[in-house]
Amino acid sequence: MKISMVGTGYVGLVSGTCFSETGINVTCVDVNEDKINNLKKGIIPIYEPGLEPMLKRNVEKERLFFTTSLKESLEDSETLFIAVGTPPGEDGSADLRHVLDVAREVGKHLDHYMVVVTKSTVPIGTAKKVKATIQEELDKRGEKIDFDVASNPEFLKEGDAVEDFLRPDRIIIGTESEKAEEVLKKLYRPFLLNQHPILFMDIPSAELTKYAANSMLATKISFMNDIANLCEKVGADVNEVRRGIGSDTRIGTKFIYAGAGYGGSCFPKDVKAIIRTADENDHSLEILKAVEDVNNRQKSILFHKLNNHFNGDLEGKKIALWGLSFKPNTDDMREAPSITIVNRLIEKGAKVYGYDPVAMKEAKKVLGDKITYTEDQYEAVEGADALILVTEWSEFRVPKWKEMEQMMKNKLVFDGRNIYDPNEMIKLGWTYYSIGRKPINK
Ligand code: NAD
Repeated sequence: MKISMVGTGYVGLVSGTCFSETGINVTCVDVNEDKINNLKKGIIPIYEPGLEPMLKRNVEKERLFFTTSLKESLEDSETLFIAVGTPPGEDGSADLRHVLDVAREVGKHLDHYMVVVTKSTVPIGTAKKVKATIQEELDKRGEKIDFDVASNPEFLKEGDAVEDFLRPDRIIIGTESEKAEEVLKKLYRPFLLNQHPILFMDIPSAELTKYAANSMLATKISFMNDIANLCEKVGADVNEVRRGIGSDTRIGTKFIYAGAGYGGSCFPKDVKAIIRTADENDHSLEILKAVEDVNNRQKSILFHKLNNHFNGDLEGKKIALWGLSFKPNTDDMREAPSITIVNRLIEKGAKVYGYDPVAMKEAKKVLGDKITYTEDQYEAVEGADALILVTEWSEFRVPKWKEMEQMMKNKLVFDGRNIYDPNEMIKLGWTYYSIGRKPINK
């Protein structure tokens, strides 16, 4: 069996590598020549735990190939996955340019039956557009070649992507053809030996499922952040409230942690895109509009706490930031709360010193020379007026508070992920702010 995976980003590279791990031949395609040349040399463009050894193993076994030529990848390919980016357009809708470029290229070169699958997150109606685009190119060539389209949204999480792909909670497939259903069933069988289901449905429902899932998760986060802010006003502790509601099995314990707002390449853009789709269909998604507003506010919450602590005078203050990526175990900086915090601090004349265990290279691309990058977490706090914990990487969990007392100007911490124990902070004599819990020693 042979497949093509178009787009070698977080989704395409992980999916392609994991498919090759089952023994099938996978050709990964990307328009980015540097990326492909590096991949051929075993240099991986992203940080994703577990990916590198698996990729190298499958390249060695000659099951995983890289090319910039989509035409070349089509040879003998039974299935082609489109896993290219769908960034937000200016109006918030998903930009389908890359997806339709791939469809056009497929139509130009297709010479045998194939299932063309959208794995990118795409709005309802996209599979139809992909089908029409391929057909248009076939018609131009005067060729009559049978093909099917299907929608197979991806649910992997950056940071756990390999594990999520190998052992998915479920596979969603939207298709209108039994033949395509059989092809995809065969392809996914190795991932479903743990009895997790493969759910077949119509194409629009599959396309909407992805947006609905991300919107629900974003809603849980914003809901909890809103409750956290209320907790602070009324003297409650959001961690206690979380324990209280999380033990209700109807609610569950996941995605109800208060923090500094959600970021990343998916939630912000997907919430925007579904709001846009609904507006276009004369239906206003009020809940999601509020989710977005709450999140935008939450991304500045750490800045406001710090600014209030210093009575609005941040000129010349040295602020240390621990964690820059949008969440731990990834180097992805897209829509990271750290970006908002840095920009707000800089506007007020503060000097920011940042450290991230993995995302320094990506952070430099986004933040440039706005901040000073340090070699480790302790260099960042040297002489600092305050520390802000933005991303909860494991190595930040047990800091050397005693040594830090000597290093920092003030014993002042803003914990954006509620990872430190307030009682311990009291004992150690630090002034400690967190999210949705009472400030300590203020
Ligand atoms: P990414 O930006 O990391 O990678 C996209 C890749 O596609 C890039 O390497 C780019 O060069 C390539 N590309 C663009 N146009 C191309 C073309 N015409 N032909 C070949 N390659 C092309 O994107 P990503 O994070 O992997 O996301 C891809 C899609 O999957 C998006 O729709 C996203 O919403 C969705 N998704 C992402 C995640 C995630 O965690 N990142 C999870 C689930 C779904």
